[in-house]
Amino acid sequence: MATKLEKERYRKIAELGCSLCRHQGNEGTPAELHHIRRAGKRSNAPVIPLCPYHHRGSNTSIHGMGRRAFENHYSISEEQLLVQTQELINDYS
Ligand SMILES: [Zn+2]
Ligand SMILES: [Zn+2]
Repeated sequence: MATKLEKERYRKIAELGCSLCRHQGNEGTPAELHHIRRAGKRSNAPVIPLCPYHHRGSNTSIHGMGRRAFENHYSISEEQLLVQTQELINDYS
């Protein structure tokens, strides 16, 4: 279960709009949350905002293409998108 604080944080992140669209110069594309998978607990996995096209699209998204192909294709890594997101909400937790 997400705590109230986490929910608030997730809402802020989603409201930024898609982080990849932003990287491409289009701010404010409605986004859903993508969890970054790292070793360890899933419950505190960091999240980034991605629009459905960049999140789930068959040949355009991190889940459709796989992370490595996605990062090569868009020349930006998931971790770089996370840093951008953290800077925007000024929260590095
Ligand atoms: Zn997008
Ligand atoms: Zn995802």
